[in-house]
Amino acid sequence: MYSRKISSLFSTQLREWELAKLNYRQLENVKSREFDFGYFKVFVQFNPGRIRSSSAKVDEKSIGERPCFLCEKNRPSEQRGVSFEERLTILVNPFPIFRRHLTIPSELHIDQRIKNNFDTMLALAEALPSFIIFYNGPQCGASAPDHFHFQAGNSGFMPLEKDFQDGNLTTLFSSKEGVEIWQWKGYQRGIITLRGNDRKKLVPVFNHFLEMFSEVQPDRTEPMLNILADYYDESWTIHIIPRKKHRPSQFFAEGNSQLLISPAAVDLGGVMITPREEDFEKITRTDLEDIFSQVCFNDNEIAGFLIELV
Ligand SMILES: [Zn+2]
Repeated sequence: MYSRKISSLFSTQLREWELAKLNYRQLENVKSREFDFGYFKVFVQFNPGRIRSSSAKVDEKSIGERPCFLCEKNRPSEQRGVSFEERLTILVNPFPIFRRHLTIPSELHIDQRIKNNFDTMLALAEALPSFIIFYNGPQCGASAPDHFHFQAGNSGFMPLEKDFQDGNLTTLFSSKEGVEIWQWKGYQRGIITLRGNDRKKLVPVFNHFLEMFSEVQPDRTEPMLNILADYYDESWTIHIIPRKKHRPSQFFAEGNSQLLISPAAVDLGGVMITPREEDFEKITRTDLEDIFSQVCFNDNEIAGFLIELV
C-alpha cells in the first residue's frame, strides 16, 4: 500500500517541484570513485548538494536560532507528504544521495531519540520493503537533532547490504528466541547486526544494547550511533553502528589536509559523501581507513559489547 503511495509521491514531486526535479536530475550525473578493500568496496560520491548537511552546525545555539526545516510550517510550499501511522510524514528529500531518497520526520517538533522509536523504525522497514530505513543520532549526522526523523533510500545502493548478504565478513555470534546476532570481522568499522522475523523480540534486544551502550557514554544525551534497517524474506535486518566520534580530525584540519567529510549512516554503509570536489579528487584508501577508525569502534571493542549483549 505504501509502496504505491510513495512511488506516486515521487512522480508528482519530480513533476511539480522545481528544486527536487533539478536535484534528482543532477544525481544522474554524480561522480563516484570506487575503492577496493578486497572482500568489500567503498564508494566515494561527489555530491555538492549535500554541503548543507555535511557542514551543518548542530550545536544547541545554532539549532535554536534557525527555523526548523522539518517542521511543517517551515517546509517549502511545494513539498507534499504521506502520513505514516499518524505520527510521521514521509517526504521526498530534495537533496538526494539515493535515486529515491526520503526524509521521514515526526509530526511533532520533538528531539531526535531512538529510545521508544525503534519499533516504529521496524514498522517503516516492513511498510517500505524497497527501501532501507536509517537513523542518524543527534550527535552522529542528524542535521536536525531537535526534530525526530528517519531517512530512507532505495535498497541495494549501499555496499553494506550486499556485504551482509554475501556473508564473507560475518559470523553468527548467537541465535536465541528468534533473534540472530551477527559479528563482523575486518570491515574497518564495527557493526552489530540483528536479524529476526518477530518485531516484539527484536525490540528488547535493541533496548538492552542501548542501555548497555548508555553506560559506556554516560555524558551523552543519547549514546552515539547510526542504525540501518531493512526488511526482506519476511525478516528484519538491523545494522547498529556505535560511534566514538561525530566528525574525524580531517574535518577540522585546515588547508590542504582538510577533508570535509561528516560520516553518518550512508557513509558507514559504504557510500562516503564529499560535498567538495577537491576532497573527492584527493581522498585515498588510507584516509578512508583512518576516518573509519576514528569514528567507529574496532572489532575487539565490538566483541566486548557482544559478550555483554547475549
Ligand atoms: Zn521541527
